[in-house]
Amino acid sequence: MRQRAITISGVWFLWINLLFCLFILGRHYFSPIKQIASITQSYPVLELLMGLILAISSSVIFLLRMAPDQHAEWLSKCLHGALLGISALWVCCFYIFIASGDSRIVFPFAALLIFTALISLYFDTRVLLSFTLPIWVVILICNFVYPSDLTVLNALLYILLAGLFESGRRILCGWFILAVRREHENRDLITQLQTLANRDPLTGIANRRVFHLLLDKALQREEQCNSPLSVIMLDVDHFKKYNDHYGHQAGDECLIKVAKCLEDAVRSTQDVAARFGGEEFIVLLPDTPAQQAIEVAERIQQNLKALAIPHAGSLVLPYVTMSLGIAIWEPGMSATRLIAQADAALYQAKEQGRNQWQLFHTEE
Ligand code: GH3
Ligand code: MG
Ligand code: MG
Repeated sequence: MRQRAITISGVWFLWINLLFCLFILGRHYFSPIKQIASITQSYPVLELLMGLILAISSSVIFLLRMAPDQHAEWLSKCLHGALLGISALWVCCFYIFIASGDSRIVFPFAALLIFTALISLYFDTRVLLSFTLPIWVVILICNFVYPSDLTVLNALLYILLAGLFESGRRILCGWFILAVRREHENRDLITQLQTLANRDPLTGIANRRVFHLLLDKALQREEQCNSPLSVIMLDVDHFKKYNDHYGHQAGDECLIKVAKCLEDAVRSTQDVAARFGGEEFIVLLPDTPAQQAIEVAERIQQNLKALAIPHAGSLVLPYVTMSLGIAIWEPGMSATRLIAQADAALYQAKEQGRNQWQLFHTEE
């Protein structure tokens, strides 16, 4: 965030430097402002210094605008280096003014520069101080090395400005830290909300909403690659009887175990086991032909058998079993049709005695 901020407000600050330079270069044309026109004389070195600041500012602005990655670390380092160089050039410029007796323009100008630096760089103390410190020092030294009738007043102003600068910096930094903290909290919150929106609250596995999203994505991918994709629709056998016998609470716990069993049976992170609704689940198997889908289905049945959750009310076996319907996607088939085929195969598995898988056949 600091990096992003510095490349954004750094450009603004470079523009300010550029405008200040133009002002110094064109100061003699501001004849209506008599004070400015009369107090400053022409120094060739000064024009050269201003030219350098102009060149550095404009080339770094150009670089920041054209760079493909606006927030790259090397860009902020380059900006930091440029600001250090510009600061040194301003120091020389102020020194020339003070040493030549044109000190009246220096104080307001330096104050403007320091406070615009504070506004644009307050969040990075290192960059801010490396820019402003040389300016603070040169003004302080010059104030005493070249005393004028304003020396005491300038010293008082100096202390006042330094106090304002530091207190302002602390307040702005406080706000920045608060903003960064809020941003982190918001990001965490969004991640939590996304997890909640994608997960089934009871079992913790993917919910139906995210399953449909992932299926659509997988189908788009498979359309391009022309690779097979399978879906298994699963339903717990005689689950109403389970609830009736063990109670709804135990039914919930059973569903959690079944969901875990499905997650353990799928092969990789690209396979998705989701709760479709009630005691129905669905498994998405991208890049999977029929034979491999059958292997996954049999693994689920084996896992359930190994788990052996007692089911006294079941008419199939004394432990929890599932019926499974497998459907294989073919190019051009919609997601709805694929799910309908898996559902039809599941219905057939139920019809034929439950605790088994059935593969959907088009000729049926
Ligand atoms: P079949 O073998 O034909 O699938 O019979 P079944 O009893 O499993 O199917 P049925 O559709 O008749 O009943 C499903 C039951 O699943 C009814 C409902 O109370 C229960 N159920 C659905 N969602 C939940 C849940 O989140 N928790 C619990 N404990 N039970 C649920
Ligand atoms: Mg059922
Ligand atoms: Mg059901």
